[in-house]
Formats: sequence, C-alpha cells, structure tokens
Amino acid sequence: MIESVVLEALKAIIPEDKILLQEPMAGHTSFRIGGPADCLIEIETVEQLGKILAYLNSPEIGNLREEGFFPKEEVLPKKGWRRVPCFVLGNGSNLLVSDAGYRGVVLHIGSRMSQVTVSGDTVTAAAGALLSQTARAALEHGLTGFEFAAGIPGSIGGAAVMNAGAYGGEMKQVVQEVTVLTRDGKELVLDNAEMDFGYRTSLLKKFPYIVTKVVLQLHPGDPVQIRAKMDDLAARRREKQPLEFPSAGSTFKRPEGCFAGQLIEQAGLRGFQIGGARVSEKHCGFVINAGGATASDVFALMKEIQSRVKEMSGVELEPEVVLLGEF
Ligand SMILES: Cc1cc2nc3c(=O)[nH]c(=O)nc-3n(C[C@H](O)[C@H](O)[C@H](O)COP(=O)(O)OP(=O)(O)OC[C@H]3O[C@@H](n4cnc5c(N)ncnc54)[C@H](O)[C@@H]3O)c2cc1C
Repeated sequence: MIESVVLEALKAIIPEDKILLQEPMAGHTSFRIGGPADCLIEIETVEQLGKILAYLNSPEIGNLREEGFFPKEEVLPKKGWRRVPCFVLGNGSNLLVSDAGYRGVVLHIGSRMSQVTVSGDTVTAAAGALLSQTARAALEHGLTGFEFAAGIPGSIGGAAVMNAGAYGGEMKQVVQEVTVLTRDGKELVLDNAEMDFGYRTSLLKKFPYIVTKVVLQLHPGDPVQIRAKMDDLAARRREKQPLEFPSAGSTFKRPEGCFAGQLIEQAGLRGFQIGGARVSEKHCGFVINAGGATASDVFALMKEIQSRVKEMSGVELEPEVVLLGEF
C-alpha cells in the first residue's frame, strides 16, 4: 500500500488518471504474468519524472525506511538515497514479476514518452520509443545500422540498459549518447564509452539511472536493402522463436563458448513443464507461458533448468530475465 500522504503528493505532480493503484503487472509484461503493483505511474514528460524522483527522495515523506518499507531486492548505495521503492518499467519484455506483485511505485516509461526524430545520420528517441518504431524511422530516412533491433520487442531505454542485441548487432555499435536522470532527478549525458557496454550489460546495470533519451549514430543506406534485411531477420525470428506464446525472450544469458538453449536441450529438458511454464519445444532457450503460468511456475522451472544444466555440464546459467518482487 502506498501511504496516502505519498499518493496526494504524487497527484500534485501528475494527473490523477495517470496514477494506477493495485495495477496488475500481467498487463504490462510480455510473459503476461505478474501480480499488482501498489502504484503504477504513466510518465508523460522528463519534467514529471524529475519531479517525482525529487519527491520520492525528499525528507518530507518521512521514515519509511525505518518502517521496513524496502523490499529486499532494493539496493541502497548511500544513506537516505531512496525512501519509496520504485522500479522503472519499459515495455516489460525482459521481466518476470512475482505473483504477489510489487510493493512500491512502478514508473512506466512507455508510449507517452516515445518521440523519435531524425536529423542527418542521427536518430534521437525518447526512452519509451519501441525498437521497432525507431528502426522504422531509420528505414524511412534511409539510415542503416539498426536493422538488428527491429524485431526486439523492447523500448529503447530498456535496450540501452541491457545492451540488447541480435544477429551480430548490439546497441553498443550504434549508441552515440544516452541521457539519464539520476535517482534524485539530476540529468547526465553519457557517451558510448561511459555507458561501458558489455554482453547484455552496461553501466546502468550498476547505477540505477533512468534513461530518458537515446541518440543513435547510423549511416546512409539503401532503403530497399534496409527493408530486405529487416524482413529477413523477422522471418528468421518467426522460424526459430516461439513467438506464438508469451515469453520474455531468452531466459538465460549465453554462457562463454556455448548456447544456453543447446545446454538445456542436451539436459533433456525440451518441452519440460512446471505448471503452466514450459521449455519451448521450438527453442529451448525460451521459457514460455504455455497457458495460465504463474511467476512461481516460471521461477521453479528456471531453478530446475539451472540445476539440471549444472549437473550435466558444470555450466551455471545466469538469468537474462529481470526478476521483480519477492521470489
Ligand atoms: C519474443 C522476444 C524476443 C526477444 N529477443 C531479444 C533479442 O533478440 N535480443 C535481446 O537483447 N533481447 C531480446 N528480448 C528481450 C527484451 O526485448 C530486451 O531485453 C529489451 O531490451 C527489454 O526492453 P524493455 O523496454 O522491454 O525492458 P523491461 O522489460 O521493461 O525492463 C528490463 C530492465 O530494464 C530496465 N529499464 C527499462 N526501461 C528503462 C529506462 N528507461 N531506464 C532505466 N531502466 C530501464 C528495467 O528497470 C528492467 O531492469 C526478447 C524478448 C521477447 C519477449
């Protein structure tokens, strides 16, 4: 439950109809799983976001920390840093939310903050812009280099955080700079080197800044070829991935020197199911919601996969999917 004093203050910053209470997270994740968030706010502008962050960090909302208000997954790098737990949601395509939901405020950076503009060879996208939308803008302006991202179902903010990639491309190759707000509402602009991109990681995995804008540096290209490449990659996805079922994409990161899906298959887990959660028969690297899966089903299946793969190969699979709430 959100304290009424907190709620009243949020209403002074953001229109009431953009503040959703007890909002089922299943409607905001590609897994179609997740209990209610105490509060979900549809962010419309960077200014609103800055004010909310400043408020959530202000002394006036009292000693919620002492009341045990923080769930255990919260990281508190310095004293007094965050007094109301908050989580930033993009397009929810890399996320497993617990069945009990989330005790805190979810800041949703989605379609209301999704403007994309193109100038010369650079594309500037607000954090909530979908990768598909951004790739379409690049295509329309005859810019190449972003085709790899067209079929990844995330927001550009979420993609910057985890250095999303596919078919030999990754965000690291195209990001010129990323604008973020720190958790106390200050704006920073990070260049490509400062983002410290690595395989499915970046600086923002260590520092919980909030992405508000991403600038991409692309190159002039032939629109016919750009479209052909996008179509080819989309066809490869449809052929190899279980897009007909809800999922969060690859459940585990690719271990050094092998593929998670291969290890899972070799462990005899193709089609293995716990409750409604199943290892996809089409692509063993995907855990899918085969119908009515709970977060507990998915989590139990992930644990079972990790344990059987470890037993068989000695490899410890690391989740790529972000977990939110109590597991
Ligand atoms: C069918 C399918 C296929 C997929 N294929 C690929 C693929 O080929 N390659 C790949 O890399 N991924 C893939 N994914 C996973 C996913 O789409 C990407 O990881 C994507 O980048 C996640 O973005 P999102 O906006 O959905 O993030 P969310 O799921 O909303 O959030 C993921 C994490 O990013 C953080 N975050 C989101 N937005 C922001 C922001 N503005 N500021 C700060 N933090 C933020 C969240 O707090 C959370 O920690 C796939 C997923 C599905 C369902």
